[in-house]
Amino acid sequence: MEQTENIVIVGGGPAGAYCALELSKHGVHPTIFDHSHPREKPCGGGISPIIIKKFPFLENFRSEGFTFPGFKLITCTNHQVSTNWYKNGFGISRRLLDEKILEMATKKGSKLIKEKVIKIQKKGNKWIIKTKKRVLLSKILVGADGVNSIVRLNTVGSISNENLALTYGYLATSNEKKRATIKYMGEIPGYIWVFPRKNCYSIGIGSELRYGGKLRILLDDFISQYCPNIKIFSKFAAMLPSANNPKFFSLPSSGKNWILIGDAAGHVDPISGGGILYALWGAKLAAKAIIKNDLQAYDKLWKKEYGNKLKTQSKKKDAFYDPVNSTFMILLAGKKSMNA
Ligand SMILES: Cc1cc2nc3c(=O)[nH]c(=O)nc-3n(C[C@H](O)[C@H](O)[C@H](O)COP(=O)(O)OP(=O)(O)OC[C@H]3O[C@@H](n4cnc5c(N)ncnc54)[C@H](O)[C@@H]3O)c2cc1C
Repeated sequence: MEQTENIVIVGGGPAGAYCALELSKHGVHPTIFDHSHPREKPCGGGISPIIIKKFPFLENFRSEGFTFPGFKLITCTNHQVSTNWYKNGFGISRRLLDEKILEMATKKGSKLIKEKVIKIQKKGNKWIIKTKKRVLLSKILVGADGVNSIVRLNTVGSISNENLALTYGYLATSNEKKRATIKYMGEIPGYIWVFPRKNCYSIGIGSELRYGGKLRILLDDFISQYCPNIKIFSKFAAMLPSANNPKFFSLPSSGKNWILIGDAAGHVDPISGGGILYALWGAKLAAKAIIKNDLQAYDKLWKKEYGNKLKTQSKKKDAFYDPVNSTFMILLAGKKSMNA
């Protein structure tokens, strides 16, 4: 007889770990599967003032990161302006951030099994979850396993190429004064980021999947022009959800005994690529629905609280990255910041 759990969360990134933490506030202690920690997830690690306002516990990690004094924005025609964008946000290592949130969850009673889930099957009204070492059953399955989610694959189906973005980038050190920067480009709908952290920078580029072949060249050109003296010590390439079709957000993210949260649900801002806010927000709403014993209520909750925002961002994406529009927006942002 296989062991039966009440709730299994696949993935212990911000979404899975925070969902577990929220559940534990109600005396419910799920089992989390994640083989990867400690690990540096490919990410800008940018924690915006909006995320901190919504989830003030993140303030506890500021001292482990680098506080942004504002952002330098560069237009596709290479005009530079200083802005208050992201002011008092911070950049942080994902190895550190994710470990801390996961630790908060396990300290409150969640069980972490450091194994990769390799197969999921439905059996009656339960789920069979397999790793290389064990098989167990669960009444409820939470998919917090990121953009390539195995839970998503076995429920609503994988995210289509149309709604995915590709990123490429480096972790690097530099002796120069730390400066957070975003550069927009005329060649692709996307941007380059330079996010300082405490001891290094995340420097990367992201755009729709179909522009993947151009990313490395554009990023390396940027580096040779703007920061030729950085010392790169690792590189990354990763996908992330990025809805080009607003209808993507009409797909269900929950059923009778399953829920998708964070990147597994595709809950990422289609313009900025920011997903930590929605990973935590969705996690909180998922926990609420699980406690109410009404998992399908989750779909109503996230659609009501942030679904429209994600849909609107998806609709605005093309116009946002239009070179004339983005140049105008950046110059205006610079002017506003000067007058503030
Ligand atoms: C290059 C890049 C830059 C980004 N920059 C920013 C930024 O600056 N700010 C921001 O807000 N967002 C950013 N994002 C988005 C952000 O990283 C994600 O939205 C966020 O990490 C989502 O959290 P999550 O917990 O849903 O998924 P993840 O962080 O991906 O965590 C998923 C976890 O599931 C585990 N897992 C996967 N499969 C299995 C399995 N089969 N069994 C067990 N465990 C499994 C993984 O090991 C991982 O730990 C960026 C994304 C990328 C790719």
